Amino acid sequence: MAGRSLAYLAQIPVDQVSGIGPQKMKRLNKAGINSVTDLLLHVPRRYLDRSQLFDLSSVPLGEEVTVAGRITEANQRRLSKGRLMTRAVITDGTSVITCTWFRKYMKEPQIGSEILLSGKVERWQGRLQMKNPDFERWEEDENLTTGRIVPVHPQAGGYPSQGMRDSIINVLKRSRPITEILPAAMLARVGLMGRDDAFANIHFPGTREDAGTARRRLVFDELFRLEISLAMQKQRQLDAATGIRHDTEGEIVGDFVEALPYELTRAQARSIDEIQADMVAPHPMHRLLQGEVGSGKTVVAVAGLLTGIQSGYQGAVMAPTEVLAEQHYLGIRRLIADAGLAPGERDPAGEAGTASLFAPDTDPGKGVRVALLTSNNAEVNYLPSGAAVRQSVINDISRGEIDLVVGTHALIQEGVSFDRLGIAVVDEQHRFGVYQRVQLREKAADYDPDLLIMTATPIPRTLSMTLYGDLDVSVLDEMPAGRIPVRTIHKTRQGGLAEVYNLVRSEVRTGRQVFVVCPLVEESDKLEAKSATEEYERLQGVLPDLRLGLLHGQMRSVEKESVMSRFRGGSIDVLVATTVIEVGIDIPNATLMIIEDADRFGLSQLHQLRGRVGRGEHASTCILIAEPATPQGEERIAAMVATTDGFRLAEEDLRIRGQGTVFGERQAGVKDLKLADIVRDAKLLVRAREEAFALVAGDPKLENHPLIRDEVIALLGDDAEWLVRS
Ligand code: ADP
Ligand code: MG
Repeated sequence: MAGRSLAYLAQIPVDQVSGIGPQKMKRLNKAGINSVTDLLLHVPRRYLDRSQLFDLSSVPLGEEVTVAGRITEANQRRLSKGRLMTRAVITDGTSVITCTWFRKYMKEPQIGSEILLSGKVERWQGRLQMKNPDFERWEEDENLTTGRIVPVHPQAGGYPSQGMRDSIINVLKRSRPITEILPAAMLARVGLMGRDDAFANIHFPGTREDAGTARRRLVFDELFRLEISLAMQKQRQLDAATGIRHDTEGEIVGDFVEALPYELTRAQARSIDEIQADMVAPHPMHRLLQGEVGSGKTVVAVAGLLTGIQSGYQGAVMAPTEVLAEQHYLGIRRLIADAGLAPGERDPAGEAGTASLFAPDTDPGKGVRVALLTSNNAEVNYLPSGAAVRQSVINDISRGEIDLVVGTHALIQEGVSFDRLGIAVVDEQHRFGVYQRVQLREKAADYDPDLLIMTATPIPRTLSMTLYGDLDVSVLDEMPAGRIPVRTIHKTRQGGLAEVYNLVRSEVRTGRQVFVVCPLVEESDKLEAKSATEEYERLQGVLPDLRLGLLHGQMRSVEKESVMSRFRGGSIDVLVATTVIEVGIDIPNATLMIIEDADRFGLSQLHQLRGRVGRGEHASTCILIAEPATPQGEERIAAMVATTDGFRLAEEDLRIRGQGTVFGERQAGVKDLKLADIVRDAKLLVRAREEAFALVAGDPKLENHPLIRDEVIALLGDDAEWLVRS
């Protein structure tokens, strides 16, 4: 086919474009623009419409508009932190408007020059003004002769919109026509513009409609690439005829459920059935267990693990943090012991946190033997020969003398191999990338073990389709009986915190426990630890009568675990902590959580934190201390006070923050979406998914669609490569 493909252009570095030298390349690279393809995909943020100009005297306020005028005054001022404030006054003969920009780099506007401005006009103290409007010289640009519609490309690496546009003009000249990769029939079915036209029209459209049609095509392409990779992954799983038929007839699981001190919820029972149905089937299970914090995912997972173990296989649980792995280890051991399934006698010193509880069960032959494996086992085991103990756990795993191992990503490190891994459980999936999920599964040599992924993140439907498109889903949509929703209160420091500390005292007096979560310090565990330590010391002055504990990420594992076990055992009343407690910590007796500077946290993080209370039969309270500095912060606090429904909060979060940040950088897929917005483009996502899955069903390795295959590999990078190759 004629032209150049995006896969090919993805190999060409940007300095091959005329006008881009080493200097500019460096700065573009920093902004994530490395190849010609990256430049082509650097599409306009919006367009200035020269055909629709407003007079300043009659311009509507608060709407996106374009106006034209002459600069009559201009000046610039350096602010702190290297920021630059630029001011200009513009008149169009009917009125006058003042514009202000806050940017790091900007040329001083030239008095007398004619410009186009685009943005929202406001009236302040009787005068018109615009903040950070997009702008453009008015003089005719030879490249834009038809251009009544002027593209505004996002700045990148300090290059202003116009500089970016000039580079893109050069790139388009050199690389067009861009090769079509989709079959004509698909283009017709979905109603898509051809690819070459789409690139021409997104950058330099003749009309607004053309720009919209072009964007729709490129958004589809992006979603299609993602769905192709998911479809191939799913196909590969179906093809793997090397799954295990587990045995659900044995007694272990029944004994376990019977011994639980409570009845399973209907949702838990249904999920266990779904998991077991997958496990008896010959192909490997790939299931997501999704449930609100506190919905009881752990027992469901343990039922799955025991199903594998009763069939003669090993089980593994991978947790995102050490604290959580250790807690799971203790919790699972306790559950197994209570069901009378532990090897030998029950550990007489079985109080949480005692040294002996951390020694692995290696009594061969009878019972379910459980071990813990983290990169810090040495410390956790409190043994002088810690490293040796860790090595012996690794040996026992490979010899099959451990039935169930709980750990961190230490589990997928080199040197760890299983004798017969039958089921792997990954907790709090969004902390791990898709790739790590696969690595754990590959710890079984010549077959695919069953895989269960647990997440507490309530995922809006469109998102779960993108993120987990290859998985079947079980949902715990029901809370264990007797749970009382957490009451959430917003307090300001100005209002005084005496009342808050009185509540702390009265909770502790009735035997309950309290979390105090210290402010988030973005990207610095050290500073966060420091502020937690200071808060801990300050609170010792405020609450001298109570027993305080401190927990932060800079502490050694042995210290962390000792604090956690004292809190769990009730000898600490108030735990002052950083967000290390965000995930999974289960202390049903804790009924009060105080979150300081709560407006700094994201919504899903606040929801996770709040999920640490309200886990037992006692009524719980969450106090958000915040003086929100931004409208977004204010919205988040209001949303938290308004609802405890994680799904509603997730939708809100998506709305307030945008998709990229909800799941963190590490989640493959969403971070790759440059054009698509899975909320706005939900319908197109569904179409892309249908087309991608149908295509892969007919051509599993894309042998008949090499252009598509090459593009997915080139544009999705490492996350897709293993997938397409294997
Ligand atoms: P999560 O889904 O957040 O991981 P957990 O599995 O940690 O939830 O369970 C939260 C708490 O609820 C635990 O203390 C657990 O013992 C308890 N629990 C789980 N299932 C039930 C149930 N069916 N009835 C009562 N309590 C339950
Ligand atoms: Mg959990």
